[in-house]
Amino acid sequence: MIKSIITMETKQGRDALSAVCIPVEDKYLAQEVVKNLVDTVNEFNQLSIKNDGKILAVGLAANQIGEFIRVFIIKWGTIWLPIVNPVIVGRSEKKKTHFEGCISRPNMERVRTSRSTTITLEYQCPITGDLQKKKFKGRDAVVVQHEINHLDGILI
Ligand SMILES: [Zn+2]
Repeated sequence: MIKSIITMETKQGRDALSAVCIPVEDKYLAQEVVKNLVDTVNEFNQLSIKNDGKILAVGLAANQIGEFIRVFIIKWGTIWLPIVNPVIVGRSEKKKTHFEGCISRPNMERVRTSRSTTITLEYQCPITGDLQKKKFKGRDAVVVQHEINHLDGILI
């Protein structure tokens, strides 16, 4: 189901985006939230392409659609990779500074941030509940850190 993307423009939005999300044990709830995230981000990107195509989302976290569980999706090649209950188990000491935007902060200039260049993540598959481990590099590592910040109530 397509949901509204919550932004910082209202008090209610700021409260939702500063909430710390909790781990989810119910895999059916996790699956439903993943589906809603995918539907919502696809709709956002289709509208964006229709307009000017300049801002395309590459990730979305549960509290950006008003669900307060530790779930996000990240663009992974041609699919959306679902991440449930992520834990960063390793990160490079090496960091890179770059400019980052967020669709919950529309009309805002990109913000200069410094992020680890590689991240090792443990998380659950929403279908099987199995534990997965994956190393993310480059832009993917940036998106993972950005989305985990969202789950901790932190915006760039
Ligand atoms: Zn964001």
